[in-house]
Amino acid sequence: MELELSKIVGKQNVSSEEFVLISYSEDASPYEGTLPQVVVRPQSTHQISEIMNLATELKIPVIPVGGRSSINGSTIPRVPNAIMIDLTGMTDIIEINEDTMIVTVQTGITWSGLIHHLKGKGFKLGFRGPYGGNAGTVGGSLSANSIGCGASAHGGVCDNVIGLEVVLSSGEILKTGSGWRNKSIDMDGTFARYCTFNDMTGVFLGDHGTLGIKTAATLKIFPLPKGEAYSDFGFSSIEKASKAFHEIQKSHLVEEAVMLGDRNSIDLLASSYLSTFENTECILAIIVEEADEKLAQHKKELCEKIVRKHGGKSIGMFLSKAHWLNMFNLVQSLFEEGFWYNTCHIRPISTLPRLIDKFHQLADKYKLKENGFNWIISALGVDHCFTSGWITMYMKDDLKKDIIYDVWDELREAEMELDGVPYWTGKLWEPYALKRVNPTFYNMLKKLKNTLDPLNIINPNTFEL
Ligand SMILES: Cc1cc2nc3c(=O)[nH]c(=O)nc-3n(C[C@H](O)[C@H](O)[C@H](O)COP(=O)(O)OP(=O)(O)OC[C@H]3O[C@@H](n4cnc5c(N)ncnc54)[C@H](O)[C@@H]3O)c2cc1C
Repeated sequence: MELELSKIVGKQNVSSEEFVLISYSEDASPYEGTLPQVVVRPQSTHQISEIMNLATELKIPVIPVGGRSSINGSTIPRVPNAIMIDLTGMTDIIEINEDTMIVTVQTGITWSGLIHHLKGKGFKLGFRGPYGGNAGTVGGSLSANSIGCGASAHGGVCDNVIGLEVVLSSGEILKTGSGWRNKSIDMDGTFARYCTFNDMTGVFLGDHGTLGIKTAATLKIFPLPKGEAYSDFGFSSIEKASKAFHEIQKSHLVEEAVMLGDRNSIDLLASSYLSTFENTECILAIIVEEADEKLAQHKKELCEKIVRKHGGKSIGMFLSKAHWLNMFNLVQSLFEEGFWYNTCHIRPISTLPRLIDKFHQLADKYKLKENGFNWIISALGVDHCFTSGWITMYMKDDLKKDIIYDVWDELREAEMELDGVPYWTGKLWEPYALKRVNPTFYNMLKKLKNTLDPLNIINPNTFEL
């Protein structure tokens, strides 16, 4: 196998050394996987097409991976003998089109790499990437429905994509959106997602790499802002904070709105606020980006008005600035708290108080503090008007693993019972989602998989397909 793959991508881009295979059998989750048989690092769409031809001919499973920063076990092989296709060698920026304000990239580029490049040219992305954007790639995020920086104004990654280039299991190369045209007859060009036929882009979004290999993506870009404003608002209760959060989010005033949901979370990220403002139970941080300073300031003032109406007050701008200006680097410091047990999902903003109350009940029941665990509760505004809620628990002491697993399980059940749905699924969420899925929906998913990947070689067993 190594030999055949070397002929396609070159010897230096293929490895079956044990330490490489071990590292590729893991992601950022605590789950364990099977070792792949070989890892291959293609440089082009054409090479991926040839790999798929080979895999189809030999009926060998393939697993596409980007930065392998998923916290949900979505990249780790569930079947033996797989070829792991690592896309991180495909980082080209193919085109920046100022006319249609889009950027087309190879999907192995990281979010931080892309943001940096665009900034140099005077542009920003709408959705800037998940908070793991130093490692996370555009292709991984589009496959896993990422939500993160900039989602309050622009939605998650999938709301920001115009079109895709996807290699199918047959080795065929598909272009979606306005890229459907036949190059030999017409101009080639992706500038619109919704046009002549069905939305073929959507079929592949959030598929966790089960329907094809995304090799290029076209995303929306915007001019860099000329005015920015930051503010942190303190509240004496989660109920008041959620009401203000909801009103700000539905008014579309901010680039980002992020909430810290209890005193424990504030203590971990912005402890000085607790000593200065005694009754602070919750903080809402907002970031405004606009075409000029006046407009940005005006929008911030409108947010302040909303906050005052709901009993909150302005307390500074430390958190909003740290959150936005450090972007992907802020969360990394939290690894010092221990291994992450995460439960990211989306939910209506109004349901946050009930969820946080439920988590506090679990924290008491399992004596999380006494047992040396810590947590952060945060929630991010997501277009159009919902929130991505994150309750992350940290475990330093491995000996108490059983406790954290019990809480983790109860928390995920509760999060779904209280109106939440996960966005990146993987091993983390699959058992909880699959037992609730509507049979008609799931049968359609199976039919889609069967049509696009009849031999079931792309990421088999994911979603139990
Ligand atoms: C510190 C930290 C913070 C994080 N914060 C967030 C956050 O705020 N929001 C969020 O959503 N996630 C977050 N994550 C999780 C992770 O970063 C994101 O899900 C990210 O989008 C994954 O990108 P990746 O390139 O690492 O994908 P991988 O982990 O490599 O892959 C993810 C899935 O996509 C598939 N895949 C990858 N590339 C392709 C491709 N080109 N074609 C087809 N399928 C493909 C894989 O098979 C897998 O199923 C965080 C992770 C860490 C470690």
